[in-house]
Amino acid sequence: MRTPIIAGNWKLNKTPHEAIELVTELKREVSDVEGVDIVVCPVAVALTDVNDVVRDSNIELGAQNLFWEDAGAFTGEMSGPIIKAAGCKYVIIGHSERRQYFGETNETVNKRIRAALNSGLIPIVCVGESLEEREGDQTFDVVRDHVTGALSGFTADEVAAMVIAYEPVWAIGTGKTATPDQAQEVHQYIRGLLKELYNEEVSGAVRLQYGGSVKPDNIEELIAQPDIDGALVGGASLKSDSFAGIVKGAISKVTG
Ligand code: PEP
Repeated sequence: MRTPIIAGNWKLNKTPHEAIELVTELKREVSDVEGVDIVVCPVAVALTDVNDVVRDSNIELGAQNLFWEDAGAFTGEMSGPIIKAAGCKYVIIGHSERRQYFGETNETVNKRIRAALNSGLIPIVCVGESLEEREGDQTFDVVRDHVTGALSGFTADEVAAMVIAYEPVWAIGTGKTATPDQAQEVHQYIRGLLKELYNEEVSGAVRLQYGGSVKPDNIEELIAQPDIDGALVGGASLKSDSFAGIVKGAISKVTG
């Protein structure tokens, strides 16, 4: 049984002070939740403050990105060892906004994943097609390209511990959610691809999140799908009640 994982990507929102307020409320609201991995990913400068709040709680910390070198003359970057020291267990890699605005490619995604693993971080690897690609019937080709490019050179054991987030770009921050069937179809494809590239064990072990306008009122039908193990949540993670609602909705995966 794969443990469901709900991660909140706060993107470029919340000052350290606001981040502390949000995570303090969230901690109270999800304190009794068991059986679901809960992750928050604040801006880099809020990581240590948020870590102080979530330490010894059921909430884990993630970063939104990392650079592939550990240290050196790379102004403005954050590295695996630094993120790890700030308390992170997870790191989001290859989010579509990074591909769109910051020149992220399969090659740089691959390097960042290597750096994350070298620092003992669990990568949340984002893949997904744009609206034009979906309308051009290229969804599976794009997803195959993102997954194979990201995972190139990693061993089966390394891949088995990763999280892959399928995030159709047309559903991110638009209020348009993929239907449970649309999401399941691509998740099933990714699982099949992992079997083809590695083996059945890896395919059965990797946790696949759906991302794209997930809310408390659609999480249950999404996570009920056999290949959906959780959600990567943007907008709805910025309010403690909506994020807690999504986390609680994910319990249905465990209780049935
Ligand atoms: C995201 O940015 O990863 C995301 C899924 O955003 P939203 O939930 O706002 O669509």
